Amino acid sequence: MDDCVFCKIVRGELPADVVYETADLLAFRDINPQAPTHVLLIPKKHFTFLDELQRDDLKLAGELLLAASEVAAKLGVAGAYKLVTNCGEAAGQVVPHLHFHLLAGKKFAP
Ligand code: 5GP
Ligand code: ZN
Repeated sequence: MDDCVFCKIVRGELPADVVYETADLLAFRDINPQAPTHVLLIPKKHFTFLDELQRDDLKLAGELLLAASEVAAKLGVAGAYKLVTNCGEAAGQVVPHLHFHLLAGKKFAP
């Protein structure tokens, strides 16, 4: 998507503090962190949100979940993080490119 902020980061047109990258996925630090560790994990391919994933994307969906665990381990927060995706404006989604927030380093409410 030409004017998608996260697609621009994928294409290198906007800077980002990248912490993890594979052929299909990218993780970078959130520009406005809500926790000491706040990373956004995205597929490089543009999906607006989780509901756009299809059965054909099963491998990518699995890779995203495993990558979240790998990113957490790489950042030293394995077993101590929250993983969130906002699906749609009603849920608070602001950037319309599928992303998971990986949050850690503070006490979260149960
Ligand atoms: P959403 O509300 O869509 O789930 O979350 C979007 C997140 O993207 C927000 O936490 C916001 O701070 C982050 N964000 C928005 N624009 C940029 C950007 O250009 N770079 C980075 N690193 N994060 C961004
Ligand atoms: Zn995009």
